[in-house]
Amino acid sequence: MIDYKFILENFPQISTKTRDHVITYLDSAATTLKPKAVVEAVDTYYLKECANVHRGIHTLSEISTDKYEKTRDLLKDYLGAEHREEIIFTKGTTESLNMVARTYGEENLKPGDEINISYMEHHSNIVPWQLLSERTGTVLKIMPINDQGEIILEEAFKLFTSKTKLVSVVFVSNSLGTINPVKEIINKAHEVGAVCLLDGAQATTHEKINVKELDCDFLALSAHKMFGPTGVGALYGKKVLLEKMPPFMGGGDMIDLVTFEKTTYNDLPYKFEAGTPNIAGVIGFGAAIEFINSIGLENIIAHEQELLEYGTKKLKEIKGLRLIGEAKHKASVLSFVIEGTHSHDIASFTTQDGLAIRTGHHCTQPLMKRMNVPATARASLSIYNTKEDIDKLYNSLMKMIDIFGL
Ligand code: PMP
Repeated sequence: MIDYKFILENFPQISTKTRDHVITYLDSAATTLKPKAVVEAVDTYYLKECANVHRGIHTLSEISTDKYEKTRDLLKDYLGAEHREEIIFTKGTTESLNMVARTYGEENLKPGDEINISYMEHHSNIVPWQLLSERTGTVLKIMPINDQGEIILEEAFKLFTSKTKLVSVVFVSNSLGTINPVKEIINKAHEVGAVCLLDGAQATTHEKINVKELDCDFLALSAHKMFGPTGVGALYGKKVLLEKMPPFMGGGDMIDLVTFEKTTYNDLPYKFEAGTPNIAGVIGFGAAIEFINSIGLENIIAHEQELLEYGTKKLKEIKGLRLIGEAKHKASVLSFVIEGTHSHDIASFTTQDGLAIRTGHHCTQPLMKRMNVPATARASLSIYNTKEDIDKLYNSLMKMIDIFGL
């Protein structure tokens, strides 16, 4: 059970008046709100403990390095990874996906090799592979989905052949909420000798992840979708793969010995962490993981599932509203269109009632095309949301339908 008093104390934004309203935040798939513990951890670093990591022997450098590295341990445990060196800090999911494309992809893929993704990918899991194709001549294959927004596995698996060298698939769709059967997809990828990368951006607070049990080769994630700071995230990669991959960027920290003739590289994970990292962000990320652990991921999931069920039922009562994404296995995302209105009009209307919902293509243009909609309105729910928030959305939409004469 979620203790709402505890939530209110930790997320002051929930009760703060912005312009005329206390905002009902229904946009957690874009970014989650940040609890006090995260902001305080960032604050402490900047105000009291600021120093660079890994480079100094002085006390503050030691403190900031310890805290930075503690996040690696927390994330390793959170993901069930075997080794702490398998956690590489990045700017977020986008950078993690690009890192795999530029390093693993360029090193291992040849012209004609195939990469399988799905119709519901975020642009950040499409464009890096297109860029890779331009550089290396690889071919992109798209796993089909049904009208509910689920991958049609029996069709998708026909694309898995000896030519398939890499499979990159979204774990939880940001536009539909679909939780994909990633274990089956990973197994199939391995069966044909391909590696499997998961876009975990939306999965990390909606699903219990154990990378060892899943046996995924890589997993990309962002801290800001898990109550952490923006501009920080991670790539999990199997040690055996990361060890063989060339560095992503060159610079400080990623080297072992530099001469003008030749440079040798640092060990994992530092080989992939060139330059001064987002130290405050990583420390804040650690506080976010501790925050999730203190509530219990299973409690977060149970709360979100209850809201999802309630929200689905409630929105379905609205005449002319169509949910986009009705997968059987779904996270707390309610994407919808309303007959006769553009989704931007929905957001413009509901914002006047203090609601923060997202509209547009959600960085999934090919998916919008597949679902035959230009855009959707999306309410995405998290631990700080309540059934009253959904009622507010329902009432605002009903009012809009009435005023617009829909
Ligand atoms: N993949 C998915 C499914 C996402 O929802 C997002 C963020 N909207 C990303 C990738 C990219 O994440 P970031 O912008 O944090 O790099």
